[in-house]
Amino acid sequence: MEFNDHLQVWESPLSTEVADGFVDFLHQLGGPTALFIPGKDPSRTRALTTLLHGNETSGAKAIHRWLKTGVQPEVNALLCILSVQTALTPPLFSHRHLPEIRDLNRCFRAPFTDPAGMLAARLLDLLRQYQPESLIDMHNTSGKGPAFGVATYLDDNHQSLIRIFGDQLIVTDLRLGALMELGDADFPTVTIECGGSDEPQSDQLAYSGLSCYLERHDVFDLTEPAIDLYYHPLRLELTPESTVCYSDQPQRQIALTMSRLADQLNRRVLDTETPIGWLGPDGLDALSARDGAGHNQIHHFFVAQHQQLYAKRPLKLFMVTTNPEIASSDCLFYFVDAEASDP
Ligand SMILES: [Zn+2]
Repeated sequence: MEFNDHLQVWESPLSTEVADGFVDFLHQLGGPTALFIPGKDPSRTRALTTLLHGNETSGAKAIHRWLKTGVQPEVNALLCILSVQTALTPPLFSHRHLPEIRDLNRCFRAPFTDPAGMLAARLLDLLRQYQPESLIDMHNTSGKGPAFGVATYLDDNHQSLIRIFGDQLIVTDLRLGALMELGDADFPTVTIECGGSDEPQSDQLAYSGLSCYLERHDVFDLTEPAIDLYYHPLRLELTPESTVCYSDQPQRQIALTMSRLADQLNRRVLDTETPIGWLGPDGLDALSARDGAGHNQIHHFFVAQHQQLYAKRPLKLFMVTTNPEIASSDCLFYFVDAEASDP
């Protein structure tokens, strides 16, 4: 399917005009589309972008489901579904981006000359034209992990937007050309990672969050739940040829054996005396801990002693999984230095 860098606007779609099935709905759009739905208060607009990655469908499914309700949003809604052709390219919903096309969520900075860059530029123009009071960019995680928000800028408004979806917020200064990195000065922008693409709870979270986002009078007044903040986290990952197992006995041929109860480490400070797991024949070489710049910091944060893995300094762990599939496809866990001061 040809990549279309044109961004069409569909004004005031009626629920009866929207195709009943989700895949039919994407075929109906045919390409990158911004849906504009006038609100009860037409003086304000909230924007949401999704399907920047063709294999991350929770946000687009939520938009489709919400359009079929026919509910009028509280304020104008600008709902942008971007990589429609990528999503529809067989096998369905398997491509993050097409092989010859750049990752759209790395294109929100100059140069805007190739097809993905031009589509990114058109989306930015549209956002400037509609001047939304907020922007949510909805994704799915690559593994099956839980939902979290990501922001490059932190204030009460950003935290309030995160609370619509949950209570975990990663603050990163990473600059990759992602959509989230723009608009800090213009309008609060956050990324929501809804959990894995194939998970029914991810779709449900995307839908309930979208409904709340569009139907609340004010999206900047949420003060609950309390948010767990993680500044500039690193990810502990297996090297591609390594595997993990979750057992109460060390499996010596496996790169890492972690306890079946490893997820009890979540949101706790891990000291340097508590083993994280048993290492296999390759020791620390089976693991990597990349920082925001992509540098492997494994020896800075971890040490092997008596074939067990320990933290070298107190760490705060989060999104610890006990699912080997998530551990392989995404990471074992995220962590931050427990003693580093927040910026
Ligand atoms: Zn994504």
